[in-house]
Amino acid sequence: MNYYSSQITNLIEELSKLPGIGAKSAQRLAFHIINMPQEQVDRLSGAMVEAKRNVRYCKECFTLTDQELCPICSSGGRDHQTIMVVENSRDLAAYEKTGKYHGIYHVLHGAISPMLGIGPGDIKLKELIQRLQGEIKEVIIATNSSLEGETTAMYISKLVKPTGIKVSRIASGVPVGGDLEYIDEVTLLRALEGRVEL
Ligand code: ZN
Repeated sequence: MNYYSSQITNLIEELSKLPGIGAKSAQRLAFHIINMPQEQVDRLSGAMVEAKRNVRYCKECFTLTDQELCPICSSGGRDHQTIMVVENSRDLAAYEKTGKYHGIYHVLHGAISPMLGIGPGDIKLKELIQRLQGEIKEVIIATNSSLEGETTAMYISKLVKPTGIKVSRIASGVPVGGDLEYIDEVTLLRALEGRVEL
């Protein structure tokens, strides 16, 4: 890529480090950015810097937020006795888009994977167990139906059962190995409504 000046090459290289951006897309984006009006570039870079600086985990559910508590945890209109456990904030967003779930969430930030060396201590499981000391009626496990998601679901159900709190698993209308975030809302709702008690 020596035929570009070093600043262009630098921009292309940085963009190509983003997920799903190959060398060609990075090049296309770099030229697009260079041709954008200056204020638009300032807004884009400003939004990235501000989001990175201010976004953190909600202290209740561990989803990403720019407040101490996320809008869901701080809402009085939610059922704070039902916790849906999801692998990441994108899965939470998928369920929120259905508009039909009124409980709160717990975001694990991953799933147990012996193959990748990810153990129970590497995801937000301890934090989930701590939350169960409050007044919780049901834990709905909505991890993905991948091997890792199922392993995590089993692990959680074993942890929750002795507490006497109802624990359920979303129905497997969700294709095996399918990421929750790519599944349509109808399937998500069917999976939620058809959840089975463990
Ligand atoms: Zn929260």
